[in-house]
Amino acid sequence: MHIFHLDGLTQLARIGDGVVNPKLRVDWPLCCGRGLCHELMPDVVALDEWGYPIVPDSLESHQVADAREAVRVCPTLALRLVDAPR
Ligand code: SF4
Repeated sequence: MHIFHLDGLTQLARIGDGVVNPKLRVDWPLCCGRGLCHELMPDVVALDEWGYPIVPDSLESHQVADAREAVRVCPTLALRLVDAPR
């Protein structure tokens, strides 16, 4: 599994080139639970009763660009896109 930390444009380009089955993952100790990712992707990320994100097991191809943006703007770098086997 390849994990891409999305804190730079070069890494974003790598994701666009290399991820074949991108999945969103949350680094829970880093997540502040304010739900910005949900605000950006309400059709992809739900919130639990405490305001923490619930991410889907997989992303549809049309959701990947929004997921990249959510990863980019996550204020605590808690969101990641990972390349997982199908
Ligand atoms: S934007 Fe980041 S810190 Fe905020 S709820 Fe989503 S994963 Fe957590």
